Amino acid sequence: MAILVVDDSRLYRNIIKNVLAERNMADEGILDAGDGSEALSILLEREDISLLLVDWNMPKMNGLDLVKKIREMDRYKTMPIVMITSEAARYNVMEALKAGVSDYVVKPITGRILGNKIDAFLQR
Ligand SMILES: [Mg+2]
Repeated sequence: MAILVVDDSRLYRNIIKNVLAERNMADEGILDAGDGSEALSILLEREDISLLLVDWNMPKMNGLDLVKKIREMDRYKTMPIVMITSEAARYNVMEALKAGVSDYVVKPITGRILGNKIDAFLQR
């Protein structure tokens, strides 16, 4: 089982990866990408991604477009997707949920809040 972390900020990728590491997720099970198109390549190439943590604002392909694209694929119809973003407006949350995001975390994140969300999906 692998988890894909997508954010154009290396700092945020590292923060998220640290939260995952604290939950004893093996390092080799955590992949990361710096934009939506890089993430899409990984998702097309691998079949073991079971949780996607994705930023909204990124170059090339943003998180919302990535979510819309992968939700059209049979194998990613039900994969949990958590959007982690500074877009906190109610309108944004609604748009993301409509696109197929499973849960939404507003930056700045705390390890505890993100950890609780991740735990909920990993236990399913
Ligand atoms: Mg960003």
